[in-house]
Amino acid sequence: NHDFDVMSAARNWRVDAPAPTPPAQVVGELFASDVLTLEELKTRLSKADYRSLRGTVERGERLNPAIAETVALAMKTWAMERGATHYTHWFQPLTGATAEKHDSFLSPNGDGLAMATFSGKELIQAEPDASSFPSGGLRATFEARGYTAWDPSSPAFIMRHANGATLCIPTVFAAWTGEALDNKTPLLRSTEALNRVVTPALHLFGASAGTRVGSSMGVEQEYFLIAEEYFYRRPDLVMTGRTLFGAQPPRGQELEDHYFGAIPDRVLSFMTDAELQLYALGIPVKTRHNEVAPGQFEIAPIYEDSNVAADHQQLIMQVLRNTARKYGLVCLLHEKPFAGVNGSGKHCNWSMATDAGENLLEPGDTPHENLQFLFFCAAVLRAVDEHQDLLRISVASASNDHRLGANEAPPAIISIFLGSELTDILDRIDSGEGGRGTAAGLLGLGSSVLPPIPRHAGDRNRTSPFAFTGNKFEFRAAGSSQSISFPVTVLNTIVADAVQSLTAELKARLEGGMDLDSAVGELVRDTYRQHRRIVFNGDGYSAEWHHEAEHGRGLLNLRTSLDAIPHLTDPKNVDLFGRFGVLSERELAARQEIMYDIYFKTVNIEGETTEYIAQTIILPAAADYLGDLGAVRIASRAVEATAREVCQLTDELYDALQALREQNRTLGGDEMHDKAHHVRDHVLPAMREVRQAADRLEKVVADKHWPLPTYRQMLFVK
Ligand code: ADP
Ligand code: MG
Repeated sequence: NHDFDVMSAARNWRVDAPAPTPPAQVVGELFASDVLTLEELKTRLSKADYRSLRGTVERGERLNPAIAETVALAMKTWAMERGATHYTHWFQPLTGATAEKHDSFLSPNGDGLAMATFSGKELIQAEPDASSFPSGGLRATFEARGYTAWDPSSPAFIMRHANGATLCIPTVFAAWTGEALDNKTPLLRSTEALNRVVTPALHLFGASAGTRVGSSMGVEQEYFLIAEEYFYRRPDLVMTGRTLFGAQPPRGQELEDHYFGAIPDRVLSFMTDAELQLYALGIPVKTRHNEVAPGQFEIAPIYEDSNVAADHQQLIMQVLRNTARKYGLVCLLHEKPFAGVNGSGKHCNWSMATDAGENLLEPGDTPHENLQFLFFCAAVLRAVDEHQDLLRISVASASNDHRLGANEAPPAIISIFLGSELTDILDRIDSGEGGRGTAAGLLGLGSSVLPPIPRHAGDRNRTSPFAFTGNKFEFRAAGSSQSISFPVTVLNTIVADAVQSLTAELKARLEGGMDLDSAVGELVRDTYRQHRRIVFNGDGYSAEWHHEAEHGRGLLNLRTSLDAIPHLTDPKNVDLFGRFGVLSERELAARQEIMYDIYFKTVNIEGETTEYIAQTIILPAAADYLGDLGAVRIASRAVEATAREVCQLTDELYDALQALREQNRTLGGDEMHDKAHHVRDHVLPAMREVRQAADRLEKVVADKHWPLPTYRQMLFVK
């Protein structure tokens, strides 16, 4: 019989039912209570020190090392008041996860007592051993050390666990050569680049001196929940995050009854618990709902400055994972945990805003505001068209390959959905409609402002990888498990590049004596004409689009990660990232190497896990069942036919397993690049063959002999 208990999977959580949710006022007080905000620091620092720190946080001024000592003391006191016993520099190595190494505030002294230490030096810099983090060759083994440096632009916070708390200090992580070993450093550099370039453009539109520009980001996170009981009975989920076996259930998502349906009590309790923790961390969670697939859900906070949003995104994933366990559930963040049902993505809503809160991608109420809006829209069109490759690379991973271009997921082709209103405006600008031949006419601005562009246009297209949604662009190709840092870095940098070019062109026209309206009008028209191939408002999932994109429009279709990754070090991209000081050629090459490395290791682990499960779990189950059938003494056509079928499928499984075994033992070459191609071209197909035979067996072997929890069970426990 099964050695797992379906009933316990379903019942589990009631054992330690959650505490009741506090009333709304209390929740209000909870918000950011575990975050060391600037307001909090203001009460704890001298006026001069506070002003100095604020200059660093808000205006990017150089950190004054002289204030580190007092800030460290304030941090320590604040954290200990809240029960923290340890502190850690919290950073984002190139694994895509976060890393922490805890040190105690308490250190034993001569009297056997403990006293708290945490100095300014410890705050500003630490030297974790970098040898176990991927460096892509940036760190020679003889110099294993890396250093972490405090990032004052993201506030410190307290992470709580069942019996304690830790002060986490957001930090960047670099090699001693100064080369970035993390995802945060290039993100900060790209934000600076965007500010450097967009501010002069805004000045042409009359912005006041001293204006700063940053990017904003709001992330919708999709995830699955399954019963813990099932998770730990599935070595594939435990080892790889996805099911490597599993026949399609009789019922999947075809009834479309789950999406936006009532949220089951157990799940709602989990969500509420997670949200309360996220509030305390100052994360403005706003939305929760069921997603398309059974067992799939979504959480989304309100947008924030992208650097903070990137940190918060990592925390959201961590809190979801930790909290699920309290409810007897496991949160799956993998892009495709279950074949044949919807995968999980992470929609990255991106825009640019001034420090005064003006959204640069928001159509305004006046012709002047709309000039500016169209200028920045044109820049995004140009950026996405010229750097399709980089956007594709920024979401490339072995796990996202199962989702991108597959059913119910954006295609691997990058295009922009503009919606009918904005497309119509650009078409009218292009055709010069609106009369008079003047720029005002050209822009359709002669008499009145642009037609209102609804934020939630009726024809919202869910199949586009990059959609204008009224006052921001939504990049939908990102995978559910990934860090958003690199996608944001790419967005910031490619748009900075386009804005810089367009600003130069605009300046040239103005210096040639043109007025602003005409100059912007011509610029938008020319940019649209040049890059309109990237605009596609139709069905991105259709076969016709794939054909048209590639053959009609010459857009890139980098189907798998390994098709995309080589382009990272194309001369165009080395030049781009170099010009803006975001990533050097060596840093790019290192990232490329790490991407190959992680791709190879991911598939390699999957190949080995498939082999192990097929040989030691599924084959024995089939054999047991054959034994049962063979023991039947009465001649029965049903028993004989079933035995024949099981026998044949078991042999098929065995043959496929032999083939996989051979591929698992082969490396395909010495270079990481070759190994990665080997696993994509030989191991993945061999795994599919093994799975096919196994999934057919699952439908024939007696339920009591089937050793793995099935899709039918895992997806429907609520
Ligand atoms: P959807 O229609 O995709 O559900 P929502 O209005 O719910 O859109 O927003 C989705 C995400 O986009 C939220 O996180 C929201 O805060 C974010 N968002 C809204 N405006 C902006 C902006 N200007 N910049 C970045 N993100 C934004
Ligand atoms: Mg969305």
